[in-house]
Amino acid sequence: MTAIKIDPYLNWDSGTLNPYQHGEVFVTDDGMETDLDLGHYERFLDVNLSGECNLTTGKVYSSVIEKERKGKYLGSCVQIIPHITNEIKSMIREIANKSHAEVVLVEVGGTVGDIESQPFLEALRQLRNEEGHDNVMFVHVTYVPYLKAAGEFKTKPTQHSTKELRSTGIIPDMIICRSELPIDTPLKNKIAHFCDVEKNAVINAPDAKSIYEVPLVLEREKVGEYVLERLQMPPKKQDLHDWNLIVDSLMTEEPVVSVGIVGKYVELEDAYISIRESLKHAAAQIGVKVDIEWLSAEDIKTHKIEDLDSLLIPGGFGERGISGKLDAVRYSIENNVPLFGICLGMQCMVIEFARMNGLDDAHSTEFDKNTSNPVIDMMEEQKKIKKMGGTMRLGSYPCQLKENTKAYQAYKKKNIEERHRHRFEFNNDYLELLKGKGLIISGMYDDFLVEMIELKDHPWFIGCQFHPEFKSRPNNAHPLFVSFLEAAYENKK
Ligand code: GLN
Repeated sequence: MTAIKIDPYLNWDSGTLNPYQHGEVFVTDDGMETDLDLGHYERFLDVNLSGECNLTTGKVYSSVIEKERKGKYLGSCVQIIPHITNEIKSMIREIANKSHAEVVLVEVGGTVGDIESQPFLEALRQLRNEEGHDNVMFVHVTYVPYLKAAGEFKTKPTQHSTKELRSTGIIPDMIICRSELPIDTPLKNKIAHFCDVEKNAVINAPDAKSIYEVPLVLEREKVGEYVLERLQMPPKKQDLHDWNLIVDSLMTEEPVVSVGIVGKYVELEDAYISIRESLKHAAAQIGVKVDIEWLSAEDIKTHKIEDLDSLLIPGGFGERGISGKLDAVRYSIENNVPLFGICLGMQCMVIEFARMNGLDDAHSTEFDKNTSNPVIDMMEEQKKIKKMGGTMRLGSYPCQLKENTKAYQAYKKKNIEERHRHRFEFNNDYLELLKGKGLIISGMYDDFLVEMIELKDHPWFIGCQFHPEFKSRPNNAHPLFVSFLEAAYENKK
């Protein structure tokens, strides 16, 4: 199967959104900046999705307006119905055909009743009519609140949103009820009765200990069985043995290894969701529990970083919090504490290492255009670019690792491919000087772009210009995160 996420906002992609708006910006192999849900789909389905799988109002309207300008609709008045809805359906069908999947899951973001999502719901309604009732099913996800004071669940919001959905012409075949606590059969039957769905199509998804437990919950509720029957597909053998093992290892309570993440969006964990999940996957693989401390880079001094087993500096943009990140790098070097720097994190490692080795004003030109030692500088091809959206160095690029480095030991191979999202890079004018001071260049793209660095006399100090967190899977933890947590475990306080 494949999955499509519809985000009814007007942005063309998620690239220009502040992570505080919708959480992390996810990057696909083909270089699209997408909603973080695509990350969930990749992790749960263990597939690499194309960026086309994130549909936005921005993409749909741009495409229709472009066609109108080219004269594709000559003579017609271009309207939401049929032009926009046709465009939505054709985008969905194109992804379906390319993927060769048996089932395409289409998630519409937002809430039924939103003005923005109306054209999408209308397009999906039409799709059911065109593809046939047996080939399209609708699943409505609702929330069933529990009123503590009254000691009861309330089904009214579910009844109400179902009514709203039906008014668009979409009749749900299944209702998945999210709830804080499990709901019982009489309550499910009540929902079935009021919302006019079959009793075994009312599914409960109560809060789980881990998001990875959710497929097991849905399987217990027989969701798969119902869907296959409803879509007239042959029943399939269910084998959740491996998934069960993964969930069990994710529940490991001891030993605990702590990681301090020094970031600037730490109030919203979703801003670093792929990093958090990658740490969990790696911890499960080596049999430890990871305890993440979110450290605000702006007031790093108020945190007790001495108690932590390791530090991680994630990617980011802009000056805010940079000096705290540089302090964290210095602390790691002076105290031999494992440090993992990702993208901006790697750039901070280079800046602080240069400062500690005589280049007092070393900086990135992203933060100080006039520094006399621009150890991190804008990539040459980026200097001509004026537009902000989708213009960074994006997506998958190869990288060659140097043998006898920690990076090589982690990956156990020479040629790797990782996903990118950046405008700035290591300035090669400083390559020889910094190498002479003990910096190791462990990964390069095409012999000219520094992709990975590490330090000679340090237990684990690795920076990468790419984002390994986008490729970690629960059944296949990323080698860099595994190697990092192993080092953190060695350093356990
Ligand atoms: N701001 C830096 C750059 O553009 C780092 C980007 C990132 O961390 N994703 O190169």
